[in-house]
Amino acid sequence: MSTLAERLAVVQAGVADAARAAGREPSSVTTIVVTKFHPASLVAELSALGVRDVGENRHQEAQAKAAELSGLPLRWHFVGQLQSKKAKQVRAYADVIHSIDRPALLSALASGENTIDCFLQVNLTDNPERGGVAPAELPTLVEQTLATPGLRLLGLMAVAPLGEEPRRAFARVRELSESVRRIAPDATALSMGMSQDFAAAIAEGATHLRIGTAITGNRPQPG
Ligand SMILES: *Cc1c(COP(=O)(O)O)cnc(C)c1O
Repeated sequence: MSTLAERLAVVQAGVADAARAAGREPSSVTTIVVTKFHPASLVAELSALGVRDVGENRHQEAQAKAAELSGLPLRWHFVGQLQSKKAKQVRAYADVIHSIDRPALLSALASGENTIDCFLQVNLTDNPERGGVAPAELPTLVEQTLATPGLRLLGLMAVAPLGEEPRRAFARVRELSESVRRIAPDATALSMGMSQDFAAAIAEGATHLRIGTAITGNRPQPG
């Protein structure tokens, strides 16, 4: 059995290799360790190993961990589907929200007090039940995001669908990003790539990877 430190080192080396293979600086890629279902103690261990970016997908669990670990120098990324009525609460502890996919969330997150970084999640499947905005509706959502006070649009987020070659799926996101940048020139970031497909994501320009099990080990069953 490998240790957390060993798995982290293996992934970091894999990320650096994939970046160099794509002619990119390893430092142009941020690895977010997705710690959902794992206890706060594991997040604290990651912090001691130098991890600064952690991701969560369930509001109550994320809120509790962020409160318990508020003394650590961590950036909290919310990557899960978000309910409008919980959005304000997520905004209180999250540094970055990756899963904005509809106008109702924009109104719920609007604030004149502080600015939060966000990604718009794109649905790459034909199933509207999956999180993310349909590509055809993306330009309108981009414009609405730019018009919302208190949000800084970093770029696009996506999950490669089952049954599609990940690299092809990530290439679609890169193309969508090019059209988004005509409306929002600063929205250059791409949150894509997980444990199984991060090398393909890096090859297509990912700037933020969301990696869980390859670093944390298998997740405990959701409680
Ligand atoms: C769980 C999760 C991940 C990490 O998945 P792994 O396959 O464990 O790397 C990435 N993104 C989102 C949105 C997730 O929910």
